Amino acid sequence: MDWSRFPRLRVAHLPTPLEPLERLSALLRGPRIWIKRDDCTGVATGGNKARKLEFLLADALKVGADTIVTTGATQSNHVRQTAALSAKLGLDFVALLERRRTTDEPSFNDNGNVFLDRLFGASTRIVPGGTDMRELMERTVEELRAAGRRPYPIPTGGSNPIGALGYVEAAGELLDQAARMGLEIDEILHPTGSAGTQAGLVVGLAARGRPIPVLGLSVGKPRAELEPIVLEMAKQTAEHAGLTVTIDPEAVRVDSDYVGGGYALPTPDMIEAVKLVARCEGILLDPVYTGKAMAGLIARIRAGRHASSRNIVFWHTGGSAGLFAYPEVFDLAADAEGGFRQATLAAGS
Ligand SMILES: *Cc1c(COP(=O)(O)O)cnc(C)c1O
Repeated sequence: MDWSRFPRLRVAHLPTPLEPLERLSALLRGPRIWIKRDDCTGVATGGNKARKLEFLLADALKVGADTIVTTGATQSNHVRQTAALSAKLGLDFVALLERRRTTDEPSFNDNGNVFLDRLFGASTRIVPGGTDMRELMERTVEELRAAGRRPYPIPTGGSNPIGALGYVEAAGELLDQAARMGLEIDEILHPTGSAGTQAGLVVGLAARGRPIPVLGLSVGKPRAELEPIVLEMAKQTAEHAGLTVTIDPEAVRVDSDYVGGGYALPTPDMIEAVKLVARCEGILLDPVYTGKAMAGLIARIRAGRHASSRNIVFWHTGGSAGLFAYPEVFDLAADAEGGFRQATLAAGS
């Protein structure tokens, strides 16, 4: 496709590495697991939003915006990366944060991503869970216009056809990387939330004629609700990109069995997965997205659901700054003794 039609900032550290998880794969005795390190995109501790923001913020500059407005949950990684890049571009930044996990833990409300948002000079407005964020965004944009500003609203997660271009491009990056390594990828798994990452990947693979199965592990919405959202976003993204690919509804697959009580609410399996990957690979996952997705991958491998795959790519979408919002939940002081042995035991070996 002709990328020159789409303005793009070059701010992410790309391509991100593709690495084997040797010890985790051996512990699980399943397929070889590879990790696509989008936690290393380089913007304010990394994450998947950097790829979307390269296109979104280039568009904001093109239309002459002076203020970026976006929404997210309290510990949004998208908001943190948007705050950093707004600072770099000299744009004002307003973050509307919805308190979707209610807790009075100071770490959750002020540390992790919130600490970084404020460090980057964001104005943060935290509102109660259940607030109509779309309406709040519209109202905020109107207020800014009335005050003489030129606001550019970015939807939650940077998920619209402009942002999703980042993952259309990323799919090609992965295919090129795998080709250079002589690696045949059987499946791709990743956490899915606001749909832009998955939509972009599905479109990007289809555009290259390489429809490797993609499975989004939901961190919030149930499968039946999320699959149509991803499919619609994929169609819109393909259209925006000027691609004539047809998106097969069968190519949009979501598993929502590992969400637990809801978005951003910890689960025992998430805690196990975050500890396991830390202790056998030295890699940080996060409590809201990659921890739950990895818990899903581990459970699925243990249940034999990937037995016919040789090589699986786990797309690490970032989020480690969120760990510092959940220290009470991990309670690491309690198992600081012999932690590695526990990780080995947890893997069932
Ligand atoms: C936003 C986010 C996701 C989900 O990406 P979507 O495009 O919103 O589906 C996954 N992981 C992390 C760490 C995120 O911040």
